[in-house]
Amino acid sequence: MTDKNDLRQLIDRLHTEHTLAKDEWTALISGRTPELSEYLFSLARKEQKRHYGTTVYIRGLIEFTNYCKNDCFYCGIRRSNIHARRYRLSEEEILSCCRTGYSLGFRTFVLQGGEDGSYNDERMVRLINSIKEQYPDCALTLSIGEKSRESYQRYFDAGADRYLLRHETADFSHYERLHPASLSAKKRQECLWNLKEIGYQTGTGFMVGSPFQKAEHLAEDMLFIRKLNPHMVGIGPFIPHHDTPFANKSAGTSELTLFMLGLLRLMLPQVLLPATTALGTISGNGRELGILAGANVVMPNLSPTDVRKNYSLYDNKLCTGEESAECRHRLEKRMESIGYQIVTARGDSPL
Ligand code: SAM
Repeated sequence: MTDKNDLRQLIDRLHTEHTLAKDEWTALISGRTPELSEYLFSLARKEQKRHYGTTVYIRGLIEFTNYCKNDCFYCGIRRSNIHARRYRLSEEEILSCCRTGYSLGFRTFVLQGGEDGSYNDERMVRLINSIKEQYPDCALTLSIGEKSRESYQRYFDAGADRYLLRHETADFSHYERLHPASLSAKKRQECLWNLKEIGYQTGTGFMVGSPFQKAEHLAEDMLFIRKLNPHMVGIGPFIPHHDTPFANKSAGTSELTLFMLGLLRLMLPQVLLPATTALGTISGNGRELGILAGANVVMPNLSPTDVRKNYSLYDNKLCTGEESAECRHRLEKRMESIGYQIVTARGDSPL
């Protein structure tokens, strides 16, 4: 099924039934055209506005450590990258980021980092307690990788509200080509089910255009996400990092990333969907285009300016200008220019 009208019908069916079969996803993704994309985005905006109006939620991203025990082939902070300048913020420094963020109007803080053993459970629990004590009206999101169910439960009991853990790719053999043997798609997916069962607002996601990715893999991603039914989905283009085994691989495109955002909005109409930093990095107005394709969240950087460049997951990662929390007002203007407003709200999932 590759006829243009047939593909348009698939989009209509996705809009009403919120699901497609694997071969239909594959046909739609590989047969996409600029006209189909425009049609998809118009329906995605309809759904986005039905559930969220023209509001865009902001999250303050604190990249608190770039130490990582993992060795993902695509990632600039992988253990084997001896050129990475490692840093780790102290609890006081993280709380100071929250203080700045609060005064700038942020009501969600996202603590993201590599899998850093120095931030063990005891230390994480103490940190979560302090943040929730000082900012009881704020939501706290963690994005610190794969942990045991018990650890996830401890963080949740300490007050963490949300957890982001991208599944990266739902296809097991594709996953193996992106990761060393010590990591598995099965384990990653188990973590996601644990997070959901514990009661976190849970986010998953994948890279678009990662090496060896085919339309069939993206189809599997959509099926996995549909089954997991997460509260949030973070996707962004793969961008190579010069000190990784994938230094010479091509980057994903903003065009395909935007198409996938539109599909996600129709599949899970109420999902929280960020226009990510990677999308903003690959294309100057990527965030605006992301919102116009159905996204409804942006996550400016709240980390101290002197460490930002060291959280280098891929080359040329944005960390200044509208990407930084201090420039909230510039971001606000950009959103206003396309008819959207940034709001100061926790922005919980309506599910
Ligand atoms: N350690 C945590 C984890 O594993 O979920 C959080 C940090 S990890 C660096 C955050 C995300 O960055 C990953 O889930 C991955 O999708 C993304 N990422 C890493 N390297 C990337 C690259 N080269 N291009 C685009 N995204 C990348």
